[in-house]
Amino acid sequence: MHKRAEIVVIGAGIAGASIALHLARLGRPDVLVLDQGELVSGTTSHAPGLIGQLRSSASLTRILMASVALYRGLSVDGVPGFDQVGSLRLASSDERLAELRRQRDFARRCGLEAHLLSSGEALERFPLMEARGVRGALFMPTDGSATATVLAQAMIRDARALGASFVPGTRVTGIDVAQGAVHGVQTEGGRVETQTLVIASGIWSPAIGRMCGVPIPLVPMEHQYIETEPLAALAGRTVANLRDPDNLVYLRQKGTSLILGGYERDPRSFLTALPRTENPTVRPFDRAHFAALVRAAETRVPLLAHCQVAREVTGLESFTPDGAFLLGPAPAVRGVWVACGFCAHGVSGAGGVGQALAEWIVSGRPQLDLAAMSLVRFAGQALDEQAIARLASGVYSTYYDITAATAGTGAT
Ligand SMILES: Cc1cc2nc3c(=O)[nH]c(=O)nc-3n(C[C@H](O)[C@H](O)[C@H](O)COP(=O)(O)OP(=O)(O)OC[C@H]3O[C@@H](n4cnc5c(N)ncnc54)[C@H](O)[C@@H]3O)c2cc1C
Repeated sequence: MHKRAEIVVIGAGIAGASIALHLARLGRPDVLVLDQGELVSGTTSHAPGLIGQLRSSASLTRILMASVALYRGLSVDGVPGFDQVGSLRLASSDERLAELRRQRDFARRCGLEAHLLSSGEALERFPLMEARGVRGALFMPTDGSATATVLAQAMIRDARALGASFVPGTRVTGIDVAQGAVHGVQTEGGRVETQTLVIASGIWSPAIGRMCGVPIPLVPMEHQYIETEPLAALAGRTVANLRDPDNLVYLRQKGTSLILGGYERDPRSFLTALPRTENPTVRPFDRAHFAALVRAAETRVPLLAHCQVAREVTGLESFTPDGAFLLGPAPAVRGVWVACGFCAHGVSGAGGVGQALAEWIVSGRPQLDLAAMSLVRFAGQALDEQAIARLASGVYSTYYDITAATAGTGAT
């Protein structure tokens, strides 16, 4: 076991993998990434991996664009981690169509290709849908689908090749802080001395923060999706990812199956202590809770009413009180950094998050305006777990709602 490292990262999910890779690329390979379980065994292990780049701020959109630029080149044993199938976002009302127009213009200002399509043009890219009632669609040709585990494993391999270390099965149990700065971490395998610590621990991040007096305002929220049996209608065909915000659902193709997920109006936060099971981020599936989303999806994709379900997943994903990431230095303790609270777009975000955080750690200042993601924005707010859960539930339940801002937040 290492006795010291220049930088310790807690969490070998897709975020920790990307942070280590980018630090190593910037000439800081003395990075030790610790995980309590297997590498890539947390939330990253079961994300369906829709990759959308357009978000409500230019900085976040640029982070997501950086992810796609990185992901395009990542594969493991010839299996690509990213498939650039494009994405469609439907409008079923004039108000939504106006939002899509704003989003197209905003995307173009960010340098992101975006086209407004008629319902007929959208149907060509997703022929399984019922196009009646569709007023138009935003088509993003460079969006796509990821296999998050492949991306994370590829980044771990590339980071290791540059000198970074990844150690599975090593739970962090404490953090040594003296005179307002971090000095080391205690693990089940012994102490590691470090002056720089990155908390990239997904839904466990608040518990890690408590070890060093850094409040991390996020809660795990249950997020469900299903995967169908193979569909004859998809044989020999590739369809774009589909987001139907007026029906609160998203769909992506996986092989010849469809994955269907969405954002319930009555979401559930998970405030119980995280269980120490094999994969505590996977929870029992609740069909009754998912039923309204299935019904809504069937109105848009009628064949869903007749197909068999092959897989049902309930994952736990971090949501923050305002729907923005938590990224940057912890104001309370020198040397502590956070990268978490990804609000269901952490696979889309991780590539750019790793780059942005590594640049910030190495150069001492961020290359993008990341103020909206900083922990400082919650300074002075006495947010207990109940308050965080209430606000995060509001973010989740309105994920696809039309916003007054240039672009909506919900692109997953
Ligand atoms: C159902 C579902 C669907 C999703 N769909 C999408 C999608 O379509 N597109 C998208 O972009 N995102 C999606 N997401 C979100 C995305 O999966 C997550 O944001 C992302 O995987 C988080 O990665 P991470 O590395 O931050 O966390 P994780 O992958 O959870 O990694 C954190 C790691 O920290 C480790 N750890 C925790 N505590 C300790 C400790 N004390 N000591 C050592 N190690 C520790 C854990 O073991 C874990 O491996 C989805 C999430 C869910 C649940």
